[in-house]
Amino acid sequence: MQAKTKPTAIIVGAGPGGLASAMLLAYSGVDVTVIEKESKVGGRTKLVEKDGFTYDRGPTFFHYPEVIEQIFQAVGLDAHKELELIPLTDPSYRLVFGAGGQIDATSDLDLMTERIRELSGDKNARGFEKYVKDNRKKLDLSKACLQTPWTGPSNLFTRRAMRVAKVLKPWASVASDLRKNFDDERIRLAMSFQTKYLGMSPFHAPSLFTILAFLEYEHGIFHARGGLGSITPKLAKIAEGFGAKIRTSTPVKELIYEGKTVVGVKLEDETIYADKVVVNADFAHAMTTLVPDEKRKKWSNKKLEKKGYSCSTFMLYLGMDKTYDDQPHHQIYASQRYEENLNDITNHKITWDDPSLYVQNACVTDPQLAPEGCSTLYVLVPVPNTHESINWEDIKDEYRDVILKQMAKLGYDDVADHIVSETIVTPDDWGASDIYRGAVFNLAHNLGQMLWRRPQNRFEEAKNLYIVGGGTHPGSGLPTIFESARISSKLLLADLGLDPDWNGVSNWFPEVKKPKVNTQNSGSKKRNHASGEGHAA
Ligand SMILES: Cc1cc2nc3c(=O)[nH]c(=O)nc-3n(C[C@H](O)[C@H](O)[C@H](O)COP(=O)(O)OP(=O)(O)OC[C@H]3O[C@@H](n4cnc5c(N)ncnc54)[C@H](O)[C@@H]3O)c2cc1C
Repeated sequence: MQAKTKPTAIIVGAGPGGLASAMLLAYSGVDVTVIEKESKVGGRTKLVEKDGFTYDRGPTFFHYPEVIEQIFQAVGLDAHKELELIPLTDPSYRLVFGAGGQIDATSDLDLMTERIRELSGDKNARGFEKYVKDNRKKLDLSKACLQTPWTGPSNLFTRRAMRVAKVLKPWASVASDLRKNFDDERIRLAMSFQTKYLGMSPFHAPSLFTILAFLEYEHGIFHARGGLGSITPKLAKIAEGFGAKIRTSTPVKELIYEGKTVVGVKLEDETIYADKVVVNADFAHAMTTLVPDEKRKKWSNKKLEKKGYSCSTFMLYLGMDKTYDDQPHHQIYASQRYEENLNDITNHKITWDDPSLYVQNACVTDPQLAPEGCSTLYVLVPVPNTHESINWEDIKDEYRDVILKQMAKLGYDDVADHIVSETIVTPDDWGASDIYRGAVFNLAHNLGQMLWRRPQNRFEEAKNLYIVGGGTHPGSGLPTIFESARISSKLLLADLGLDPDWNGVSNWFPEVKKPKVNTQNSGSKKRNHASGEGHAA
């Protein structure tokens, strides 16, 4: 008897979203081929190695591990063990205010309340207790919305949407919502700067996102031994263990259509076909380069041009000939002109005078990232996404000097004398690495570009095409990107008629009717298909 062929899927891009999908799909009985343009997997979440120093290219804060814990549980593994997550409990990070004072954030809620009392008095300490209580409820009510796919406005009438409506307050921004709890502007800032993780200003981000700071206090912040960039090769290895094939240094040139159905991808000198295609490459970049404009209406080139995008970042990766043992792992400086600085970013202006910035001193937790007696400093400055009025090549050296001086405000007052290795990355560099407008946190997360108004997980403008990563629902940031991988994988598996056993983790969405299993789709058809054994039930 002829063995039944497995259904096939191609994943374009080996970022965290693509690799988490590869793990879930390969485990569930799909023959997966990941195609990655670069020589290494990881995308924005990879390690940068230079002169004996190792840096994270992008993410340094690992938040809300619940999603990745469940993804690992689904495939029979333990995320904490596999990824070597290290909790940073006290301080999780230090926040230094240009306006004066500083606070060490901690996930010990009682200790945090006391620190707020010390800095800002009783009223703000009580405000924090209330903030925690309110946001615990808010997260609880909004979770199902963030973990379920959205297909259109009619979803607003579902039970899950009704629940979240109680806390959504679409008229309020994060900053305005916090006023009711805190009268000290610095504490409002401490509870709201996290919208920068979405590349947004708290003055514009919807009030739903007050949950971001709460997630840090409630669930903690983690480092991964070897850097967060070490996570993606581990995901790749696990996916390969389940039979996925990962082809690096292989750019996809085009998605192949038959009518409205995506049937495969064109490479430099090869075309490969699959039952399903998943795009993990930056959404707007992928659409404008891999999909003919006439195949898109809602997401045409013209409409993509008009969408809102996140900020970009100016980066310094510094190899130091000394260690900074007294400095915390994460430190953030909030400009005295915080709101003006944010407005500058939105208005495509560079803040020269007192910009906000973030410094990671990872070696204080993870000395293996630098040679003995040395350390790495990762510096991130939120700046505008690419714009014709800014030529970074002309200004980057001058800006670098401004930033080195600014670092003294975080206690790094001797940096210039101790740099032995250095890399500068500007928004133009991000833009040149396949990120639309260098907007590293993807499409902005305003209500007009969220839920069903964000590119949908089962892509609405083509058959057999799915999106994972920061460009789809629920949004940018590692936990949400992993969630997008889980949502899109659930949809794809159900569309293939597969009903895998995920070790006690549901392979469908609460309160959403599961479609009838259609086994017709589950076998692979003829042609040059990407091929193996799976764990599908
Ligand atoms: C500086 C910075 C700091 C960040 N900090 C944090 C943080 O602290 N915490 C957090 O949770 N998140 C953070 N993020 C956001 C987010 O977690 C990462 O950007 C994440 O890597 C995005 O994942 P992704 O799956 O969407 O895609 P990406 O990581 O962008 O991966 C997409 C992949 O697709 C590949 N690709 C593109 N085009 C093609 C093609 N034509 N053919 C084949 N392959 C292609 C790319 O090479 C890339 O490998 C940060 C991001 C940046 C840039």
